[in-house]
Amino acid sequence: MLTDNHGRKINYLRLAVTDRCNLRCFYCMPQEGLSWLSRKELMTYEEMLQTCSLLVKMGVEKIRITGGEPFVRKDIMQFMTALSKLDGLNELTLTTNGVLTAPHVPELKKIGVKSVNLSLDTLDAGRFFTITRRDEFSNVMETLEELLKHDIEVKINAVVMDSRNTQDIIPLTELTKELPVSVRFIEEMPFNGDGHVYSGIQWNHMRILDEVKDKYPLIKKLPDPLNSTSYNYQIPGHQGSVGIIAAYSRTFCGTCNRIRITPTGELKTCLYEAGGLNIKDLMRQGTDDEQLKYILLNAFQHKAKNGWEAERARVEGVGVHESMASIGG
Ligand code: SAM
Ligand code: SF4
Repeated sequence: MLTDNHGRKINYLRLAVTDRCNLRCFYCMPQEGLSWLSRKELMTYEEMLQTCSLLVKMGVEKIRITGGEPFVRKDIMQFMTALSKLDGLNELTLTTNGVLTAPHVPELKKIGVKSVNLSLDTLDAGRFFTITRRDEFSNVMETLEELLKHDIEVKINAVVMDSRNTQDIIPLTELTKELPVSVRFIEEMPFNGDGHVYSGIQWNHMRILDEVKDKYPLIKKLPDPLNSTSYNYQIPGHQGSVGIIAAYSRTFCGTCNRIRITPTGELKTCLYEAGGLNIKDLMRQGTDDEQLKYILLNAFQHKAKNGWEAERARVEGVGVHESMASIGG
């Protein structure tokens, strides 16, 4: 079993395959986008496959593909198909904004993807445009429909932002009445990529829960699965459930089982850490799998106890400022 220096099992990899995106969610990146990585700076699919294969042999059981937007990278389905064949990988999943996803749903089903996280911060087309700066709401809704039609479990990720979409908390919650989806409200984190000053959040997990409880006082707490990042609830009579993710408050670090690899091949043992070793660079310098394995094992022994510790360890003046698209969420 793969464990870290705090005795936590590591079995979950989040792999960001690109920093590019077809939306411009204001909490993630500036209007003009990022200075996109060149092809040379990106990990190739071969490098990613080799890394995933090694990590699965070491004990990783679940891989989530993320980005940027996974479907803007060419041949992503071929890569996911190859990943799905890795011996020992129990779960392959992805996080997507749903803009280009709908046509790929049957193939996702075919390669064994059982669950997809779909980002959707509002059910109002106008507010969707204000938040994402793109007119793509109908495509996202089509993806939602396709996923449900193909019996793929859907978790809707909604970032809660003061004076942007708090009026959507109840309509999104109401989706769980008729649809078997899990709507997860996420505290906004400071990864907006444009350096705008971030002074904490107005809507933390407790305030979000109060808002839902005000409308649905009979809401019931569900048992949270092992390593869950969300506090989970269900309204009696509803098909789906509601989750609240304290991503800024960082209440779930004690059971963290995750590592991340960024599009450039950087290993992050904590979302909030400044940066770790670069796997792609090591591979291109000729590091073989056996050596890489020991380098990775060593890195896992230096995982921060929690996101607060990781953030404090950043060099002064280099606080959290990067875009979530360059890490993967
Ligand atoms: N483009 C895909 C998408 O949006 O689903 C995958 C990448 S995106 C970076 C992964 C997740 O991070 C999304 O659910 C998004 O809402 C979330 N995210 C991005 N920036 C965030 C922020 N500043 N605070 C909280 N969540 C954020
Ligand atoms: Fe793109 Fe996802 Fe970031 Fe939105 S959250 S800009 S969809 S990477």
